Amino acid sequence: MNYCADCYCAFDGDVCPVCGTDRVRKVNDGDFCFLTERDSIESDICDGALRANGIQCVTMPGLSGIEMSFAVPAFRRRLYVPFGQLMQAINVLKEAERLESEKTKSRLTENADKLKINDRLLKKIKHVFALKSDEEVRSYCLGVINKATRIEEDGMISGCPYGGHYIFCHAPEAVLTLNSVTFEILSIRAEKK
Ligand SMILES: [Zn+2]
Repeated sequence: MNYCADCYCAFDGDVCPVCGTDRVRKVNDGDFCFLTERDSIESDICDGALRANGIQCVTMPGLSGIEMSFAVPAFRRRLYVPFGQLMQAINVLKEAERLESEKTKSRLTENADKLKINDRLLKKIKHVFALKSDEEVRSYCLGVINKATRIEEDGMISGCPYGGHYIFCHAPEAVLTLNSVTFEILSIRAEKK
């Protein structure tokens, strides 16, 4: 495998897949490789999980321009680990994410009675998902949360006076977005079959 020291990237082949340079060299176990980019809360969780597993981890401020357009950009961080620990790091992160998903799911289901949906979104959900009553919409949304296989918390909601983050619940049939503090449902969209 080769390595591009500009992009912190290990790859097969002679050209860096990120920047396209052919000024590459053989990768060493100690070469730091880009692992992931997260908002500051998630990057602290990842960083802690990696260190707990004896993996060296370096963080740097995230690059501007690639953040989600609706989130506050300044608080993102990029995580790097040595190439020799990259595969282990990916697995540690997967496991940490699974645990975080489970924790967030419990928090959401425990607060099921606090879920809020504004009238406009309620109307839209009824229409898009062919649901008849407000109750059906609520139970559909709860179903998506319960069936979520992945739950991420990422990005400050700009304009939320309570400092809420976006929570994304990825279920096989739909992705539901809500506010981590107010439990207001912000959007739901059907997954493409
Ligand atoms: Zn490169």
